[in-house]
Amino acid sequence: MPTTLAFVIGLLGLAVGSFLNVAVSRVPAGRSVVRPRSACPGCATPIAARDNIPLVSWLLLGRRCRTCRVPIPARYPLVEALTATLFFAEALRFGRSETLPAALVFTAGLLALAACDAEQFLLPRRLIYPTLGLTAACLLAAAAATGQWHRLGVSAACAVGGFAVFFALHQVRPAWLGFGDVRLAGLLGTGLGWLGPWYLVLAVLAGSFAGLLVGLALMAAGRATRRTRLPFGLFLAAGAIAAILAGAPAVDWYESVSSPYPADTSTLTIVRHRP
Ligand SMILES: [Zn+2]
Repeated sequence: MPTTLAFVIGLLGLAVGSFLNVAVSRVPAGRSVVRPRSACPGCATPIAARDNIPLVSWLLLGRRCRTCRVPIPARYPLVEALTATLFFAEALRFGRSETLPAALVFTAGLLALAACDAEQFLLPRRLIYPTLGLTAACLLAAAAATGQWHRLGVSAACAVGGFAVFFALHQVRPAWLGFGDVRLAGLLGTGLGWLGPWYLVLAVLAGSFAGLLVGLALMAAGRATRRTRLPFGLFLAAGAIAAILAGAPAVDWYESVSSPYPADTSTLTIVRHRP
């Protein structure tokens, strides 16, 4: 994909990030993401269009509300910048392939879920199910367009498998793993299964390891105890996005060393020529 087109998709990511911020602020409280228009949480003044430009307005306003000067949380520009960066990177990774729309939708949903989990330890169903539905719809369209129905099958199997494994863990230790994480595992299976089952395994391992490292670092710094709760969903989402963008070399390497068949293509040629 030409860099120009990836850049345009990055700009689209800025706008999507802006919408994700609205969803993160409203969905956990059960409010509509459509109405009313965005207003300052400090003084309730509706936010004018010129003050609602992703990233730019935040910088121009000096990180504060124009009317009451209450600080705008750093999460707003952070989610916008992150969405734009990830959209750009995924456009370069997948190019004009049938996988790109699903990857973008999946990533956007994960970003919103990660932000909700970081702020409120919540993985709202009203974010998980729409992300799941939209990702599945994009994958269905991709399968229909390219005839890759087997990949859709792997996706569905990974969704069921991820959900089942996390459900079992939740039954054993409900305090460690909330039911939101169980639903999230089903969503991760759907999105990552399209790339292959090892992407799901890699995402869960990377996310768990990152969570463990952060937990240990916080404990070493005296800012957490063994009882401190960490937003596991945030780490799982990060693991999934890392697997999408950077997991291919690890998965390829693992498949090459674990495959019972030699990489030599002559074996495949013999099979192919069999009547
Ligand atoms: Zn204000």
